[in-house]
Amino acid sequence: LVELEHVEKHFGNLHVLKDINLKVKKGEVLVIVGPSGSGKSTMCRTINRLETIDSGVIRIDGQALPQEGKQLAQLRAEVGMVFQSFNLFANKTILDNVTLAPIKVRGMDKMAAEREAMDLLARVGVDSQAEKMPSQLSGGQQQRVAIARALAMHPKVMLFDEPTSALDPEMVNEVLDVMVELAKEGMTMLCVTHEMGFARKAADRIVFMADGQILEEGTPDEFFEHPKTERAKDFLSKIL
Ligand code: ATP
Ligand code: MG
Repeated sequence: LVELEHVEKHFGNLHVLKDINLKVKKGEVLVIVGPSGSGKSTMCRTINRLETIDSGVIRIDGQALPQEGKQLAQLRAEVGMVFQSFNLFANKTILDNVTLAPIKVRGMDKMAAEREAMDLLARVGVDSQAEKMPSQLSGGQQQRVAIARALAMHPKVMLFDEPTSALDPEMVNEVLDVMVELAKEGMTMLCVTHEMGFARKAADRIVFMADGQILEEGTPDEFFEHPKTERAKDFLSKIL
């Protein structure tokens, strides 16, 4: 469903992505781990073209991502993204946050969009907050709204970039639980996270990145119990 082939990316002199090759199958949950600065966020951002690439190909459901244009907007709509910071629209209600894109981009009828938004908010457990403003919600609640907002576009794949790392510890699990549910329902997911409990529980495959390269790829058992490279052993010894 998502394919990266020979993807290269520089920021000036910095070679951030080095010959990245990755395939994510439909329904697969991929967890990306690695030290800070290894290029995890950059890789995620290239998948919906928040970052351009220097060379290589990225395909979503068999279609190569173009550099720009209408087709890019369409493909982008297939990719839901949830970031570390809760980037909800601060001056809009929770409900409006969720219905905005379906109405504007998908041309959905307001009533239908609101009905679906309420279902999604219920699914992530914040439907009682629908009329509030984002600042009135806790971080964990805001992040669950961000997930509902992404789901409202019916994405084929969801990207999560450290969705819990800005949260107070007691709110981490409420967001991870929603992610585990999504994974169980068969959503295709790419998750950058330091939550190794989640990685073990939800991941079909773990990708370990360091210095802009994919150094290891395997099942959670393979990666956690039998890391192959010194870099991965060193990384695991620091976080486990
Ligand atoms: P972390 O775990 O800290 O989030 P990461 O693996 O997500 O790290 P990236 O954010 O992808 O790493 O960054 C990879 C490298 O690219 C870093 O050295 C970073 O400083 C650099 N970088 C990221 N974004 C830019 C940018 N817009 N311009 C220049 N350099 C950048
Ligand atoms: Mg990052």
